[in-house]
Amino acid sequence: MDDEEAIWGTLSSEEHRSVWAETEANFWAKFALEQKEWRSEQELDFNEASVELRAELTSLTGQRKQLTETQERLNAQLAKVAGDLRNVVEQCDSRTHELSELDQAYRKRLEEQSEKWEVQRSTMQRFFKEKHGGSVHSDDEEDEDDEDEAEDEPMIDLPVTVQQTTSPRDPKVREFRENGKRSPKLIPMVGHREKRRKHTEPLVNVIDITGRVIGPVELIEPWNKWVKAILKLPIRRPVTIRPGRRFTDEHMATIYDRSESKGVKWLSCMMQAIGEVQSKRCASCDKNQGVFQQCIIVGGDLLQKCGNCEWNRQGCHGASGEGIDFKKAAERMEEILKARAEQKMPASPEYPRDEADTSRRLATHLKAMFPEREKLESNGTKINKHNLVLRHNGEVYTHPDCMVGVPVAKIDENHPYWDRSWKDIRAEVRESRERWVGKQQAIHLAEARKMACGSSKYQAGRQINRGTKILEFLDEGEISPYQLLAKKHMHASKGGIASYDTLFRLCDTVSELQKYNLDITPLEWIRHRLHELIQVEGKSFNLPRTMHDFYHDPKLSALRTKHGYKNIGRPTPQPLKKRKSMLLDSEITPASSRVASPTPSSHGGGPRIHDLLNSPNGPAVKRPRTQEDSVGFNEKRPSPVIDMTPSKVVLGEETFFVSRVKESGFESPPHFHLFWKFHPMQRSLQLCGLPNDNIIQFHPITKGVSLDDVMSVRWSPESLCIVIMRKVELYNPPTFAKTLCSFHDKGALDRFLDFCKAQRLNLIAYSRAEVEADWPKAQEKP
Ligand SMILES: [Zn+2]
Ligand SMILES: [Zn+2]
Repeated sequence: MDDEEAIWGTLSSEEHRSVWAETEANFWAKFALEQKEWRSEQELDFNEASVELRAELTSLTGQRKQLTETQERLNAQLAKVAGDLRNVVEQCDSRTHELSELDQAYRKRLEEQSEKWEVQRSTMQRFFKEKHGGSVHSDDEEDEDDEDEAEDEPMIDLPVTVQQTTSPRDPKVREFRENGKRSPKLIPMVGHREKRRKHTEPLVNVIDITGRVIGPVELIEPWNKWVKAILKLPIRRPVTIRPGRRFTDEHMATIYDRSESKGVKWLSCMMQAIGEVQSKRCASCDKNQGVFQQCIIVGGDLLQKCGNCEWNRQGCHGASGEGIDFKKAAERMEEILKARAEQKMPASPEYPRDEADTSRRLATHLKAMFPEREKLESNGTKINKHNLVLRHNGEVYTHPDCMVGVPVAKIDENHPYWDRSWKDIRAEVRESRERWVGKQQAIHLAEARKMACGSSKYQAGRQINRGTKILEFLDEGEISPYQLLAKKHMHASKGGIASYDTLFRLCDTVSELQKYNLDITPLEWIRHRLHELIQVEGKSFNLPRTMHDFYHDPKLSALRTKHGYKNIGRPTPQPLKKRKSMLLDSEITPASSRVASPTPSSHGGGPRIHDLLNSPNGPAVKRPRTQEDSVGFNEKRPSPVIDMTPSKVVLGEETFFVSRVKESGFESPPHFHLFWKFHPMQRSLQLCGLPNDNIIQFHPITKGVSLDDVMSVRWSPESLCIVIMRKVELYNPPTFAKTLCSFHDKGALDRFLDFCKAQRLNLIAYSRAEVEADWPKAQEKP
């Protein structure tokens, strides 16, 4: 160091400058080089590291583009499929409708033709018989092995009156019936053309569909094993002849025919009175080929065919095969015989002897209970320009009372008549409609995610359409809904006239009436009709409620029918509402519509109609005391013996008889006439039951179906069964439940389907196998 310093000291200042210059030059050169090296090194590293990512990014960008395109394409396809599906569903509905109409037409033709053949057959039969000199073919060999004979040839009605000489009043017959023993001295008379039998002891009546009695089926002695078997069983219902089928006294007389060993006609009548109604009719009944209305089978070894096939002496195939419970039947019979022995009851305790008298009595009761009905019915004049009650002075209405003060011209919020408490209907409807649109979109989304949504989609669609229609009416209609009647009728709680459904009913009625070529405007018709109802109902008249249910107004229904449109359900005479609810609703306590508890044990309890008829609330109706009244059946058989078989009694509009109802954890109890009762306010169906044995006692069964939960109603043109699909939970995760329901006949089913249509439920046609798949296999025969 010292050396360097020494050397440095020896250098001149010139030399000093040159040394510093050199040193500086060296430094900068090195600095630049280092920088360059560092840079190129880092650049290399970066390039190396990023090349892979760049490649991935390019590929991902490509994929993104592709997927976006695919998504757009699929969205378009989805929209198209949704559209197509809507179309197909619509077409499906319309084809189903066509098919069922075709089917009905075919059945009708077949029925008419069968009748012609029947007449021809018996005429020719008589003719040939005469030509043969009166000898008749006898068929004594026939026995139970004839299952398959005469499959397509219904047996010809032999016009022989074969008689029996032993009076059924004969104590020995009675002894048999009561003890099940055959007296050795009682020899069956299997003869032809014996002197006319004296009909004495009626067992059950043969009636037509309206309930008119054609004649009694009388007790005969147990002359063969089949008769013997059937006489041990209790009678459950009258024998109903199929509508359109001629059945006269002459036919009645032939049922005692014994030209074959079985006595099939008497037997088949009894089978109809005793057996089990088939949830699925046999092939022959299904073609309406039999004389009886229903397909009914007793069951057991001896009585396997249905009454119709027995009558026609042909094989019986394809029925669901329910048979009666022989053990229970025997117990029941014992009860009856015991009671009869003690009380000297008439021969047929199960079924009133004189239906005519019974219906008359019932009619009197009803008349006394519903005096308004008479008034309403007598008031059945048409509404037209000659009797129209509306009067106005060009500005406001002056007559009738319910219209006084209402402006003639359409009003809005700025009109002096407008009440400040009135809501902006348009905004509310638009809001509700938007809500439905939102729901529909949610459903479409859920669908896109492959979540099943069933018919709520259609329900949403329907509600949107309703909204559109209401908005149209508000914009283009002749009046504001608040002008329908005078102000005093507009103040009603909860939604009032401005509620969605009520508004829809109003505008739907207006468009419906437009179809009927009235000589007054639809609104004039509606207002006049409302005036009439106010006259009848007085203070209890409630405009929103009346309007809400206006579809079923009797006069509107009558117009509909007159113009060839189908009426859905029975007409609702409005004034009957209150009284009706006294009769039905108070007893059929609507259980919570979703409860599915299997408790058919809700029998008993609750007032009986008999008590109601004589209650202080209703007019006391004196019923002639009959022998039955004094019979001490107490708890088991309450006293009134008014016939309440389904064919006779109208329980109320929107009541639908069914044969069986089943769902998971619930099955309808046997031995009841079951029916669905519709509660319009709750939009729910309640299952109710009438005991089979004519006792007026309504049984609500804790089984209800809320229409708002119904996703779809699956039916088949070939089946008497339907499946009601209900939603239990729409999301997280969606769960559904099925309610299986079967009907006694096609008519009952059609009526229910019409009701479903009117309630805008989603009807979907399926194959027979599909709608019947969930029913348990036909029960074992005992
Ligand atoms: Zn049948
Ligand atoms: Zn049959």
